[in-house]
Amino acid sequence: MDPEEFRRHAHAAVDWISDYRATIEQRPVRAQVEPGAIEARLAAAAPELPQSLATILDDFERIVMPGITHWQHPRFFAYFPANASPPSVLAEILTAGIAAQCMLWQTSPAATELESRVLDWVRQAIGLPEGFAGVIQDSASTATLAALVAARERALDGAGNRDGLAQHRPVTVYATAEAHSSIEKACRIAGIGSGALRRVATDDHGRMRADDLAVQVANDRAGELHPAAVVACLGSTGIGAVDPLAEIAAVCRSEALYLHVDAAWAGSALLLEEQRWMSAGVEHADSFVFNPHKWLGVQFDCAAHFVRRPGLLTAALGIQPSYLTSSETGRVIDYRDWSIPLGRRFRALKLWFTLRAYGLEALREMLRNHIAWTSELASWIAAEPDFELATTPSLALLTFRHVPAGVADLDAHNCDLVERVNADGFLYLTPHTHRGRAVVRWSIGAQTTERRHVADAWARVRDLAHGRG
Ligand SMILES: *Cc1c(COP(=O)(O)O)cnc(C)c1O
Repeated sequence: MDPEEFRRHAHAAVDWISDYRATIEQRPVRAQVEPGAIEARLAAAAPELPQSLATILDDFERIVMPGITHWQHPRFFAYFPANASPPSVLAEILTAGIAAQCMLWQTSPAATELESRVLDWVRQAIGLPEGFAGVIQDSASTATLAALVAARERALDGAGNRDGLAQHRPVTVYATAEAHSSIEKACRIAGIGSGALRRVATDDHGRMRADDLAVQVANDRAGELHPAAVVACLGSTGIGAVDPLAEIAAVCRSEALYLHVDAAWAGSALLLEEQRWMSAGVEHADSFVFNPHKWLGVQFDCAAHFVRRPGLLTAALGIQPSYLTSSETGRVIDYRDWSIPLGRRFRALKLWFTLRAYGLEALREMLRNHIAWTSELASWIAAEPDFELATTPSLALLTFRHVPAGVADLDAHNCDLVERVNADGFLYLTPHTHRGRAVVRWSIGAQTTERRHVADAWARVRDLAHGRG
């Protein structure tokens, strides 16, 4: 493809994106296809001869688009948001155009220096104290894996990386049952093992009980195990539970445990002064991760990972083969030593574009709106005699149940309700199980959502529940 042909197609692609976004509201939120339907329409093997871009784009519209779920849709209330603000999309186009591998400072100095600076903007914006240094990972899962490897090597004094884990006392990690599945996965990959992930008891709101943490750590020490790390969660995925960081940090300090904070979703809300109660005690954390690619509007992937002692991370993940040594080694940051993979995308650009194009004040306004509309939605749900809130709303996340009289199996009834809501395509919600009961989870966070979308969606849920679909 020559540059002029590329220019023509690129303009068309950008026009397509603009139209898509302008009309997204008219689409069903969740893809309305059966498993296998898309694959059945795709050629069985790659073509031997070139095909025209016009044909390919045509097939994109005809075959691919019907199988897309619209995460930028204003009535997307499932999972957590994955916003891609238009400025961040523009930055991604430029990033793709440059296509630099940003593994070392030397392989694109601007990528490294922009990453350090823009993460320091973020650090200030969310009220993390000075002294935390940032790195962008592809996901919160990867940040947590990196943190647990660092914690493991801190506990074993580097011997795990040298000898493997077989010769050492087993390392243990602590989190609640509310914690994200990525923590158990990280324990598996890091050779710690699912069995060594201790589940700390929670209170009625799903928050970690620091007293139980202390008891479990003491028991494990008495049992010749090696307690290494605690993963505290700000804003659990299921119900938005917020672990009491200051109390947990106190246990970590007295027991010399590494403290990692997973605030993947809720971390964005720390832009708001009035939500900083959540992060009281964070100054004692060893690392902290949140995803600007969720609520803040930065195109996936962008996980902001902050560490208090970068040396712990680079001691665990740094390796120095001669082909990756440069004349600047040791004088600059080489972010590959802070990450699991070697290759790195230029992710800082889209964060920089987003923060500058909106400014913090507009981002705060969006977050405040989502939180206020969630409170309003909660009051509408609570006012209906046959509905109930299942958990206390947390920021912009709530869970509820439909509890009509005379229905024997309310779990099956609520699962069925979510299925009917999602099949209808007007809005998109996620089913969840909380304390053994089926609940419906509603998360507000799309940048495109307005108050009317929440109100219309609630009216549709009520109608479907009442058999008036
Ligand atoms: C979404 C989420 C994660 C996982 O985020 P990825 O970036 O997809 O790995 C981890 N923890 C919590 C609390 C989350 O909400």
